[in-house]
Amino acid sequence: MSASEQRVYASEYASSLDGNFIGGQWTRSLSSDWLAVFDPSTGQNVGRVPASSVEDVNVAVHAARDAQKSWAKTAPGARAQALHKVADAVEAHFEEFVALECIDAGKPVSAVRKDEIPSVIDSMRYFASAGRGLSSLAGGDYMEGVSSTVRREPLGVVAGITPWNYPILQAVSKIFPALAVGNTMVVKPAETTPLSTALLVELAGQVLPAGVLNVVFGTGPVVGDALSRHPDVDVVSFTGSIETGRKVGTAAADGVKKAILELGGNTPVLLFGDADLPSALDAIVAGGLYNAGQDCMAATRLLVEESVFDEVILGLKERCSAFVLGDALDPKTTVGPLNSSAQLARVAAKVGGLPDKATAVLGGKAETDTGGYFFPPTIIVGADQTDEIVAEEIFGPVFTVQVFADVADAEAKANDTRFGLAASIFTTHLGTATRMQNNLNFGTIWINTHLVISPEVPISGFAMSGLGTENSEAGFLEFTRVKHVMVDSRI
Ligand code: ADP
Repeated sequence: MSASEQRVYASEYASSLDGNFIGGQWTRSLSSDWLAVFDPSTGQNVGRVPASSVEDVNVAVHAARDAQKSWAKTAPGARAQALHKVADAVEAHFEEFVALECIDAGKPVSAVRKDEIPSVIDSMRYFASAGRGLSSLAGGDYMEGVSSTVRREPLGVVAGITPWNYPILQAVSKIFPALAVGNTMVVKPAETTPLSTALLVELAGQVLPAGVLNVVFGTGPVVGDALSRHPDVDVVSFTGSIETGRKVGTAAADGVKKAILELGGNTPVLLFGDADLPSALDAIVAGGLYNAGQDCMAATRLLVEESVFDEVILGLKERCSAFVLGDALDPKTTVGPLNSSAQLARVAAKVGGLPDKATAVLGGKAETDTGGYFFPPTIIVGADQTDEIVAEEIFGPVFTVQVFADVADAEAKANDTRFGLAASIFTTHLGTATRMQNNLNFGTIWINTHLVISPEVPISGFAMSGLGTENSEAGFLEFTRVKHVMVDSRI
C-alpha cells in the first residue's frame, strides 16, 4: 500500500469499529462515550473506539469464563494449530497491519515492514508451537507406597493490559502464550493505539471458539481498573509505567490474584574506552532511536569512560544527524513522531526543565509546525545521577551522556536506579564484561549489542521494573498453575 492508501485504509477501518469484540462478535458498548484516535504524524483524527464501561468488562469476562473450560480441554496440539491459523491470517493481512501500526502508533513504515510485523509473526509461530511442550516439575514415588504426578494447568481467565509503544507486539506476547496453555483472555489496548489489536482479535475470532479472545476498548482508570480487580479474572498481565503498574498490582492483590508486571526501565549503557567504538556507537544510536526512543529498554542513558567522552559525543552527533525525522508513512523516515501529544509534552517538559549545568548539544526542541508530534534526536551532557533527566525514564529520542572513572564507578552509577530492566556493556575486555554481567542488577544484560530480542529469551524486570517474566518458557509458565496429584498405589 502507498502512504495515501494506508491512510484511507486506516481511517476506513477505524470508522468501522463501533463496539468491542466479545464472545466471537462485535458487540455494541453499553457506554455512549468514545475515545478519539489520532495519527501522530499529522495530529489528525483517524476515528474512534468506544470508551467502554465496567458493564462491558463484566460481559467480556463472562464470555471468557464461559469459553475457558472447553478451551482448556482442547489438546495442546489443536490449540497450537488454531493459533498458527491466526498467524496465517495476520500474514495474509500483513500490509493492513503495517498501515494500522504506522498510523496509530506513528512508527516508521520501513521499520514496521522490515522488523516489527515480521517479528510479531515470528513470535506468534514460536508461542503457538512452544505451548505444546512445557516442562513440569518431576513426579515420582517420594514416599513409600504413593506415587506423585505434577500437572501444569491454565490459570483461567487472563486480563491483558497493553501499552502504546508496541501495540501489536505486546498484545501478541500476552495473548499467544496465555491461549497456548489453555487460558482465555480479555485484552484492553492503550487508549491511543487500539487499531492493530482490533484487527488481530477480529481475525482471531474467525478461527478461535467464541469467547476465547475478547477485546474491550477504553480508558485505563475505567476498563483497566475493572479488569485488574474483577473477581472472575485469574491473572492480570500488564505492561506500562511503574505508577500504573503499582495500581494494577494493588488492585490484583486485593482480590488475591496474580499480576505479571512489565514496567519501565532506564537502561544504563556502559561504554568503555577499549570498546570497538564505531560499532558500539552504531548499536547504541540504533538502540536509542528505534521507535523514537519509546522503548523501556532504549539505549539512552549513556555512561562513558572519561578518556573517550569527546570522541563519543562527536560520533553520537554524527550518527544522530544522519537519522531522518518525518512522517511515519514516508519510507525515508527513520525517526517518526512520538505517539501522542501527551507524550510529546512529557518529553519536551523533561528536556525543557534541564538544570543550568546541563545542555543539549544536539536537538532539544519539539517540532510541531506540521501538526505532528515530532521531537528530534537530542543529546544532553552535564546532567548527573540525581537529575530527573538521568534518574527517570525519558521515553523519547533523547540521550544523556555522563562519564565514569573506572569499573567500580561505572557499576555504581549503573545500579543507582529504581529500575532494573536492562543494561548493556560495550568492552573488548572479557574480565570487565564478566564481572559486570554478574554485578549489574538488571533482568537483561547485553554485551557489545543492544535491543536485540527474540521470543525464546526471557524479559524480566528486576527492582521496580516489574514482577514475573515475559517471553521464553519462563513466560509461558507464568500463565499456569501447578497441581500435585498423589495416589496410594497399595489400594
Ligand atoms: P502511559 O501513562 O504512558 O499511558 P500507562 O502505564 O498509564 O502509560 O498505560 C499502560 C496501559 O495501562 C494502558 O493500556 C492504560 O490504559 C492502562 N492503564 C492506565 N491506568 C490504569 C489503571 N488505573 N488500571 C489499569 N490499567 C490502567
